[in-house]
Amino acid sequence: MYFIANWKMFGDIKSLNSLNKVLKFLRLKNSNKFRLIYCPPYTLLNLFHKKIKNSNIELGAQNCHQEEISGPFTGSISSKMLKKIGAKYVIIGHSENRAVGETNLIINKKIESSLRSGLKIIFCIGETLQQKRKKHTHKVLLEQVSKGLKGIKKLNNVIFAYEPVWSIGTGIIPKSNDLKKTIVFLRKNLLKRFGLKNPKILYGGSVNPKNVRNFKELNVIDGFLVGGASQDSKKFIDIVKKTFN
Ligand code: PEP
Repeated sequence: MYFIANWKMFGDIKSLNSLNKVLKFLRLKNSNKFRLIYCPPYTLLNLFHKKIKNSNIELGAQNCHQEEISGPFTGSISSKMLKKIGAKYVIIGHSENRAVGETNLIINKKIESSLRSGLKIIFCIGETLQQKRKKHTHKVLLEQVSKGLKGIKKLNNVIFAYEPVWSIGTGIIPKSNDLKKTIVFLRKNLLKRFGLKNPKILYGGSVNPKNVRNFKELNVIDGFLVGGASQDSKKFIDIVKKTFN
């Protein structure tokens, strides 16, 4: 099971102290049942990398520029730079970036260049509330997946995160039945279109220690992308604990 912490645009040097609890938890519970990945803001990547050295926590970034090679792209960071600083993963296609103009075409380029740089991709897909109301969820997911992965070869290095946009940060979660159907639909189509036999598919959207068990019991999810609750180490640890107990 994957547990991915997306800190979004939160956190400063002091917030690194909150990792002590997580490191302690990992020392006590040396388990191969789960992987913990932290995606802090760019400003903390270097410090995180040093802090988590010799632990089982892995490092990811929240986004990158579509060009892997350095160039005149003010304010941007390339996948190569991320790799050099110790990141193993990068989140691509998060709805908060799609909402400010990131298209499926840009996402496709980002995935391609990040894979070339040797990163693993946490590829976010999901429908908006309006699309859900129009019953367009499956259509939207198929479009995001087929355009986002067009021409991509190393699909084994892509982890999918199904994140209904209406669930992110709202406390509203999908009905178990709907979620299960959607994940099963995705699995079928990833097999049919890309030959992916056992893709890793995570769920993201208002996951917390109280609801995580219900998601896990659906038996179709390989882990969680956690935003808000991951900024509180106790909650994040509880999410891991509750998943297994
Ligand atoms: C996210 O940002 O990917 C996310 C799932 O956020 P939250 O857990 O706060 O809904």
